[in-house]
Amino acid sequence: MRTFALVVLLCACGRAPAVVPAPQPVGPEAPAPAESLASTSTAFWSSRAGAPPVAFEEEVPPVEVDAGAVEEPQPAEPEPDAGSSPVSSLSRHTALGLPSSSIVGQPDGWLLVKPQYVAAYDTVHKVPRWVAWELTSAWLGTAPRGSSFRRDPQLPASAAQASDSDYTNSGYDRGHMCPSADRTATPADNAATFVLTNAVPQTHQNNAGPWEALEEESRTLAGLGNRLLIAAGPVYGASHVTIGSGVEVPVATWKVVVVLGEPAVTSATRVIAVIVPNTTSASGGWRGYRTTVDDVELQTGLDLMSEVDPAVQAVIEARVDAL
Ligand code: MN
Ligand code: MN
Repeated sequence: MRTFALVVLLCACGRAPAVVPAPQPVGPEAPAPAESLASTSTAFWSSRAGAPPVAFEEEVPPVEVDAGAVEEPQPAEPEPDAGSSPVSSLSRHTALGLPSSSIVGQPDGWLLVKPQYVAAYDTVHKVPRWVAWELTSAWLGTAPRGSSFRRDPQLPASAAQASDSDYTNSGYDRGHMCPSADRTATPADNAATFVLTNAVPQTHQNNAGPWEALEEESRTLAGLGNRLLIAAGPVYGASHVTIGSGVEVPVATWKVVVVLGEPAVTSATRVIAVIVPNTTSASGGWRGYRTTVDDVELQTGLDLMSEVDPAVQAVIEARVDAL
């Protein structure tokens, strides 16, 4: 049995990030991931109060969660398929639940909670296991695009992470997970996407092809008034290919876009899932790469939408988007 040190880094704008170490045993008798994460959520919300760059709190208030006692969300309406409103104990970006199995059980994993997104960084493979972010029109503005990636200052110096030079002349793009163009409300929001904890090596054909096309589609859907909850990350291969100082090159990149035209997630909620091969032959639009969330979960070992009613998950995770 290995002991996994779950460390939640809490970024408070303009101040040094608070580091809250919370070692968690991993094993059959270990507490469920949701419980361990819930125990850190109160501190997150209280430290974040007054600091967010975009004032969303009046729209989606934080939910108080007692440590060790995760309560089922109370349905707003009595209908059987009223769904559960996406609010989060940790961050608005992970409102549907953390893909929790990626945290517990991963050696040297770090959960980076930022105002702009949440990332689970894998210091062994030097890429995020997943990045999750909300997209609404409120995140979109006119801030200019950043020009260069830097190491993530939210990680302590002792934690291994990718360097910009790892990518130089590697043949791979520094592929944003949370896109630069999804964070243009303020310069600080945009700069937050240019850290290597938010990037994986992507072939240019993937990054500038189907991947970018779905990014643009997502912004279009946000512009139409939807709230999107997006998660993305790498698919690891059986044999590990690396660049630079050991930065994992994924065999594919996956993305799941939950399109909320109304607050609740129901069995009718549109969910777009894609897996794009990280090869030079990736081409065309994003629609040709659609699959199910179940397929993404199978290929990554994650449980996406983990806090959504299992009966609803069973429906929307098995359906391939056809719009
Ligand atoms: Mn990109
Ligand atoms: Mn799931």
